[in-house]
Amino acid sequence: MNTNSPDKQGFFGEYGGQQLPPELKQVMDDISAAYDEIKDSDDFKNELNDLQRHYVGRPSPIYFCRRLTEQLGGAEIYLKREDLNHTGAHKINHCLGEALLAKKMGKTKILAETGAGQHGVALAAASALVGIKCEIHMGEIDIEKQAPNVLRMKLMGANVIPVARGTKSLKDAVDNAFEEYLSDPQNFFYAIGSVVGPHPFPQMVRDFQKIVGIEAREQFQEMTNSLPDTLVACVGGGSNAMGLFTAFLNDKEVNMVGVEPSGLGLDTPDHAATISKGSPGIIHGMRCYLLQDDAGEPLPVYSIASGLDYPGIGPQHSYLKDIGRVQYESATDKECLNAFVMLSRTEGIIPALESAHAVAHAIRIAPQMAGKKILINLSGRGDKDIDFVADKLNL
Ligand SMILES: *Cc1c(COP(=O)(O)O)cnc(C)c1O
Repeated sequence: MNTNSPDKQGFFGEYGGQQLPPELKQVMDDISAAYDEIKDSDDFKNELNDLQRHYVGRPSPIYFCRRLTEQLGGAEIYLKREDLNHTGAHKINHCLGEALLAKKMGKTKILAETGAGQHGVALAAASALVGIKCEIHMGEIDIEKQAPNVLRMKLMGANVIPVARGTKSLKDAVDNAFEEYLSDPQNFFYAIGSVVGPHPFPQMVRDFQKIVGIEAREQFQEMTNSLPDTLVACVGGGSNAMGLFTAFLNDKEVNMVGVEPSGLGLDTPDHAATISKGSPGIIHGMRCYLLQDDAGEPLPVYSIASGLDYPGIGPQHSYLKDIGRVQYESATDKECLNAFVMLSRTEGIIPALESAHAVAHAIRIAPQMAGKKILINLSGRGDKDIDFVADKLNL
């Protein structure tokens, strides 16, 4: 099988598919058909292209970290600066694609859940831009913790629905948003926030993100006359990693590493290291590696970076792990914080806590890689995290 495309049922090897009741399967098939038709139309491609350039600010630069490289004394370290995108992360890439698709399909409302609010903010921005109603479900506890992001969403016209059930956080927000979606799936569009969920979402979100690697491959060659030796990206659901990796999958000499959050440690229950510690199972309409209990229920997960706090992982990652094309490693909270500070101090770039996991792995491997080049996907900026980090480090 071609590592780049799922089969007709949406499987990458044994992973993915549509693990859904028949009525929802029909809805997903409709989205898939609409996507297949729209994605290759000049109209859609031109519009998306134009917005990527003039709204998101693409192409994002590649940056050589001179001082960090000197300090580590090994491989040269480069960043793909997705943190410089409008709204501060890679998420705008797929939110824009999804909002445009929803609009073209004639949907009346786009909805989603959000945890820390990053997906909510990117989707609110994309919906405002495209001109479609946006509804974001968010746990009451998260609403309190993430006040600035709630304000951003509201300012951009999104309807933020507080979720008071259960633990009042992400999982309950997912349940709530999904119930609302099921009340009228013909007219609503559920915008999944990563390369997860039932087919066609893992492929579609990946396609909207692959611009990252397409740009990076060209920019890197122009800058260094070579390809990177190793790509490093953090992995929650896996969208920023697939965004960078996809364009390099056929470059056999390029190693790729996905970095999962090992939280308080892989030997504790407090991590979200899905591939390192999980096993194949089913969650949110797909088959993938999953942190699960004996009954197949998702386990509670934890990471200092709420954007990585997910018990599953995209089906294509699950497949790439099995065939050995991508290597999966992990970084702890502590290593993440260390990387967060180190990049801030050596380069004047404050990374998102999520992205700092990728930086942490590069810091770990660079000293033994003299003469090589590492390209990190800096998936987002850390402004959202500074209060939390200042607190942690007693700044
Ligand atoms: C949401 C988020 C992630 C994790 O999502 P993926 O789908 O794994 O990319 C990583 N970095 C940032 C900055 C995020 O906001």
